[in-house]
Amino acid sequence: MPLTLEGPRILLRRLRQVMADGGDRQTRLDKIVELIAASMNAAVCSVYLKRGREALELCATEGLNPDAVHQTVLRVGEGLVGDIAQHARPLNLSDAAAHPRFVYRPETGEENYKSFVGVPVLSGGNVTGVLVVQNVTQRSFVDEEVEALQTVAMVLSEMLTASGEAQAEPALPPEAARQFSGIGLTDGMAMGHIVLHEPRIEVTKLISDDPDEEMRRLEAAIYDLRRNVDRMLATDDVSHAGEHLAVLEAYRMFANDRGWLRRMQDAVRTGLTAEAAVESVNNAMRARLGGERDIYLRQRLHDFEDLSNRLLRILSGRAQLASEDKLPRDAVLVARTMGPAELLDYDRRKLRGLILEEGAMGAHVAIVARALNVPMMGSVRGIADIARDGQEVILDADQAEVHVNPPADIVDAYSNRARLRARRLKRYARLRGLPAVTRDGVRIRLDMNAGLLVDVERIDESGADNIGLFRTELQFMVAARLPRVNEQQAVYERVLKDVGGRQVVFRTLDIGGDKVLPYLRSNQEENPAMGWRAMRMALDRPGLIRYQLRALLRASAGRELSIMFPLITTLAEFEASRELLDLEVARLAKFGRPGPERIKVGTMLEVPALVWQLDQLLPRIDFLSVGTNDLMQFFFAADRGNPMTGTRYGMLSVAPLRMLDHVRDICESHNVPVSLCGEMGGKPLQAMALLGLGFRRFSVPSAAIGPVKRMLRSAHTQRLETAVREALDKSAYDIRAELENIANRQGIKL
Ligand code: PEP
Ligand code: MG
Repeated sequence: MPLTLEGPRILLRRLRQVMADGGDRQTRLDKIVELIAASMNAAVCSVYLKRGREALELCATEGLNPDAVHQTVLRVGEGLVGDIAQHARPLNLSDAAAHPRFVYRPETGEENYKSFVGVPVLSGGNVTGVLVVQNVTQRSFVDEEVEALQTVAMVLSEMLTASGEAQAEPALPPEAARQFSGIGLTDGMAMGHIVLHEPRIEVTKLISDDPDEEMRRLEAAIYDLRRNVDRMLATDDVSHAGEHLAVLEAYRMFANDRGWLRRMQDAVRTGLTAEAAVESVNNAMRARLGGERDIYLRQRLHDFEDLSNRLLRILSGRAQLASEDKLPRDAVLVARTMGPAELLDYDRRKLRGLILEEGAMGAHVAIVARALNVPMMGSVRGIADIARDGQEVILDADQAEVHVNPPADIVDAYSNRARLRARRLKRYARLRGLPAVTRDGVRIRLDMNAGLLVDVERIDESGADNIGLFRTELQFMVAARLPRVNEQQAVYERVLKDVGGRQVVFRTLDIGGDKVLPYLRSNQEENPAMGWRAMRMALDRPGLIRYQLRALLRASAGRELSIMFPLITTLAEFEASRELLDLEVARLAKFGRPGPERIKVGTMLEVPALVWQLDQLLPRIDFLSVGTNDLMQFFFAADRGNPMTGTRYGMLSVAPLRMLDHVRDICESHNVPVSLCGEMGGKPLQAMALLGLGFRRFSVPSAAIGPVKRMLRSAHTQRLETAVREALDKSAYDIRAELENIANRQGIKL
């Protein structure tokens, strides 16, 4: 007879009795497997526990050969038990021996048993053992039985931890100095005090005294959670539209998910406390999705974990998140993972830095951190386990180091560097209101790159003239689902409103490659940077871009719209892109909706092949924007993200400079404005070389506006041009050293 919902309740009560009775560990384990086997009408119940990192030892069994206890050891990954431990997920098989992972251990005598269900024993998300039930008959266990077994595994895990079975590393005292390494995901450094993003709620009481009361508590907490999410949605100001809204809507969907609630209610009915029910369902979800490679599913797991944590906080009466609490003025956030919307919840004036256990360069929270100018490090393993609220911390994203409770010499070294940096920033701030004019009176257009509303808000602070590149894909990347047309429109309207009369050059979606949308399935490609991305994807599947063009046209009603297409490789691609725009313009007119007063259409120059089509392309476009990040990697055939090749070929060498000179020259002869929006223009020495070649328009990251403006205001274009041309003529390869000499001689401030 399968396990009924009444069954586990009685089982849990008996297990609790076993715990209360005391006795040695082996006696208790023996008793536990006996109870589980009886309760589940199973011939066999066995517990395997982790020994070291790689081994699983049979520690107790009811039904298998008792002599095999402490003798049978499997490696993680070996056999069915090893497979469960490796993937932290249950296996439910009607015929165990037919499974390709099955290994036969003669000492156990398990050849008699066909049906098999095993679940991981998890502690804090780590596998500490495996609990297995087997039967003679060939049948699959039903989902409820597997879930009940997972609940039992959770109680078992708690018992093992309480009896000291879980071997924790000897802890250093909280005031001990600790150093961590990781990956710097932004520039910069910070010193401040740790704020744990999510104070961890430990579930200590697992088995309920009064299931009715626990059910009432669970339902009340769910009610509060739904109300909280609704309230967040209602009060979410438009500045987060798109970035934040979509995540909150996903939360609302999950918070109202009947399946989720039902599983937690079932767990309470089996005799768990409300907190333990939340944790148990969350553990099961993590076990199922934790090893998932699919980015979309991983993100959904993150949403669920976040909601489960919120629910636990409500149940424990600690509903506040760190972002809602009073923050110290020098907060350095520490978390395992964090979504982009959660970072946006914090008061950024008090945020000094962010440290995550996970998180890589392309992580969406890293994109937001860069936009907010918050120094951030990712992949800092182990930090969340030892960090405590209020500890002193130094985060150095430039050196990729974190120091918790830093010793005096580290604090001194850091303070010196921070002082120098602050002095530099002050110098740049003084230039904010001044124009980018050279000493010989040439006005240079110095624009800023942006991609999120939080970047745009910094335009005044940066001292940029316009937004020369708005990477529209970032809004799509930080959202939990595809933004709708009206949501896109709201973001673009807000951008245009925030910049006042200044221009914004919107680049249509550049997705694909390393820019992954979590909710769109993407194909695995061998060379994603050279793959099906940007306009290639848009022209093959025009639905997405047509919506985007529609949103851009509507948002620019009554004003000028500047728009450009990424990764254009052939003239035909440009023309096809332009046709899509024309279709949307015609559609707007057909519905009698107001459109932009004027539309300027340009393209990015990121593919060398386009350089040799400029004479045909330029008469058809209003402006060109050189994306040196992509252009140079394709020009040199050297992956920009690969440390072995990324810096191998200098931008300040003759070949790329000659190509850029040719581009500038041909644009000039067609009277088409050319701007340079890759990172190259953001480095003062490189921008100086470009100024010397005749470039007069740049769009750079906001943090580079100050340094580049300082360089521009100290340069004399005529003198510089003569010197740069001379250097190019007489050199065969790199002219970096010569450029540094020129800067020295001409008093150009780098
Ligand atoms: C470029 O390629 O130079 C560019 C600006 O585009 P992105 O960095 O967004 O690829
Ligand atoms: Mg590019």
